[in-house]
Amino acid sequence: MIGNCQNNLLSILVPVYNEAECLHSFYSRLSAVLERLPCASEILFVNDGSTDDSLDTIRMLHRLDSRVAYIDLSRNFGKETAMGAGIDYIRGDALLIIDADLQHPPELIPEMLQSIAGGYDDVYGYRKNRNGETRMKKWLSKKYYRFLEILSDIPVQKDTGDFRMFGSKAIAALRLMKENERNMKGLFSYIGFRKKAVFYEPDVRIAGHSKWNYLKLADLAIKGLTSFSVIPLRLVSIAGIVTSVAAFIYLVVVFVKAAIWGDSVGGYPSLMCILLLVGGFIMLALGIIGEYLGIIYNETKRRPGYFVNEYCCHEDGLTVEN
Ligand code: UDP
Ligand code: MG
Repeated sequence: MIGNCQNNLLSILVPVYNEAECLHSFYSRLSAVLERLPCASEILFVNDGSTDDSLDTIRMLHRLDSRVAYIDLSRNFGKETAMGAGIDYIRGDALLIIDADLQHPPELIPEMLQSIAGGYDDVYGYRKNRNGETRMKKWLSKKYYRFLEILSDIPVQKDTGDFRMFGSKAIAALRLMKENERNMKGLFSYIGFRKKAVFYEPDVRIAGHSKWNYLKLADLAIKGLTSFSVIPLRLVSIAGIVTSVAAFIYLVVVFVKAAIWGDSVGGYPSLMCILLLVGGFIMLALGIIGEYLGIIYNETKRRPGYFVNEYCCHEDGLTVEN
């Protein structure tokens, strides 16, 4: 018997970007698990501007199964925003976020639900291994999260993706996060609440290909860092102080040498080195400040984070189009 959830609704949120080849198998495996749950469920697909047949497939699944609802975003906004949009639209008391490519096993849902029923608010899938990822990606990811943990003062769950189940308090907290430049994993850590890990082995993607590349990962990493820590700015100030002190000491040395030995002409190589070093440092400092400035610029525009082209339809038949 899974936790007491007869009167509750479990929402399954699935971000979808060009996953037409995966959706049927995904739906079959997921619905086989949902059938066995004691609580009602809804499956909300968020079509994130797919250019293949994903939306038609989702519409077909909706005709077959009234638990299936969907929102179709006006273009591709990226997975972070797609998840944010889904959180705004789900209606459940508990929420599971799961990828459409079956890398996350739906069979874990009963165990996660049991933890939610047991009083946890954020039950996260902890990857026992990261098969299918390059050694470089694994190494970079490990170092990045270690770095993020040192720089921000929130505990970051390692080896964790977006395969997570949330209780109602966590859902309410996530809905209050209105920033556009979002790193959902950081927000999941930020909200706090009682967290629990559930271990799983990620499968290889059943079809299609990963939408991530190093450029997108770097973008996500920078957003994560700049949204959760201002320490890089402080490091720039500290480095500026250290350079100024070192420059002053060197200035005294040069002055004394010139005054005592009259050695005022030499030193072209060291001059060049210092000039290039300081020049490089100034560019780096400006770059770091620029990253924060870019985020402030984007946030002050206060644009809606996404637009919905079509929303259809929960069990009461409600359809909203805008
Ligand atoms: N996804 C999305 N929008 C995007 C990129 C990806 O909604 O711009 C979805 C994608 O359809 C999948 C999930 O996010 O359901 C994970 O994507 P992917 O498998 O490409 O990432 P990986 O598992 O390689 O990190
Ligand atoms: Mg995947």
